Amino acid sequence: MIKKYSLFFNLFLLLFFVFEPVQAQQAGNERKNKVALAIHGGAGTIKRENMSPEREKEYRAKLEESLEAGYAVLDEGGTAIDAVIAAVKVMEDSPLFNAGRGAVFTNEGKNELDAAIMDGRDKNAGAVAGITTVKNPITAALSVMKDSPHVFMVGQGAEKFAEEQGLEIVDPEYFRDETRYKQLQRIKDTEKQQLDHSAILQLELEDPYFKDRKFGTVGAVAVDQEGNIAAATTTGGMTNKRYGRVGDVPIIGAGTYADNETCAVSATGHGEYFIRTVVAHEIAAQMRYAGKSLQDAADDVVNRQLVDIKGEGGIIAIDREGNITMPFNSAGMYRGFIKARGEGKTFIYNDEDEGL
Ligand code: ASP
Repeated sequence: MIKKYSLFFNLFLLLFFVFEPVQAQQAGNERKNKVALAIHGGAGTIKRENMSPEREKEYRAKLEESLEAGYAVLDEGGTAIDAVIAAVKVMEDSPLFNAGRGAVFTNEGKNELDAAIMDGRDKNAGAVAGITTVKNPITAALSVMKDSPHVFMVGQGAEKFAEEQGLEIVDPEYFRDETRYKQLQRIKDTEKQQLDHSAILQLELEDPYFKDRKFGTVGAVAVDQEGNIAAATTTGGMTNKRYGRVGDVPIIGAGTYADNETCAVSATGHGEYFIRTVVAHEIAAQMRYAGKSLQDAADDVVNRQLVDIKGEGGIIAIDREGNITMPFNSAGMYRGFIKARGEGKTFIYNDEDEGL
C-alpha cells in the first residue's frame, strides 16, 4: 500500500516538475506575444515627391530605433509606461522631430516644449507645458505623474520641479536647430500678412521652402505583458506660436489619453482643432458608449470630425488586445508599429500598404 502511494507521489512529482515549467513557459510566451507598440513622429505635408532617399532613410532608421527601444522594454516584461518613455526619448533626442532637440521656435525665438503621459491601469497622468530646460520633456511629465500630487505643471514651476527631482537639465540652446530657426524667420518675414494656420498651409503648397514642413510631434502607445496600456506625447508645438500658447499634447483627453477599458491614444496635428474635438477622449468615449471598435472610433474622429472643422493631423491608438490603428487626414504621418523583436514596420506616406 505504502509502495503504491509513493509510486503515485513520485509520478505526481515527475509530472509537476516536467510539465509545470513547460506550461509556465507557454504562458510567458503567450504574454510576450500580446505586447505591441506604435509610434508617430508627426503628421503634416509629408509627400514622397518632396523627400530625398537619404532623408527618408534617416527617418525610417530613427523610427525603427524608437520601436526597438520600446519593444525591448516590453519583451523584458517592463511596463507599457516604461516602453512609451523609451520610445519617445529616442525621438526627443533626434533633431529630425519637433520634440526635444530640433523643436520648432516660438515667435520670440525660443523652444518651448509640451509633454504628457498617461497610464491606462489607473488613469494616472502627468503633463508639462512651456518648458525650456528639461532635456527629455517626457521624463518631466512622468515625474509629475509619479512624484507629485498634481497632473499638470507649466513653465518655470515645472522646470523647478524637474530640477528638484534630479532630471537632466540643459541650456535652452541645446534644443536649437538651424533649419527650424530659418523656418521661423521665413514665417516671420511673411508675417506682416498676419498668417493664420490655413494661410501657412497655403504657403506650404506654394513655397518649396515650406513644402516639407510638418508638425513633427512624437508619441507612443503600448500594451505590456500584463495587458496594461499607456500613451506618451512630446512636442515643440507649432512654429511661431506666441503668448504662452499651449497645444493639445499636454491636455489629457485631447492629445494624450489612456484607459485600460478602452484605448491609449497619442495625437499629432493642428492642436487647436484637437483640443476643440477632445480627440483622444472622444475616441475612447465612442468605444465605451457606442461600442465601436478602436479603428471605427478613431476613423470617425480623424476622418470625419476633424475634417469637418478642417483640423489637420492624425493619431496612433492601441487597445489591450494589441489592436493598433494609425489614421491621419494629412498628406503623411511618420509612424510605425512593432509586435515582435526586429520586426518593426515604419510608414511615412498615405499610399503605403499596411499603413494602418
Ligand atoms: N499638436 C501639436 C500642437 O499643436 C503640434 C504637432 O502635433 O505637431 O502643439
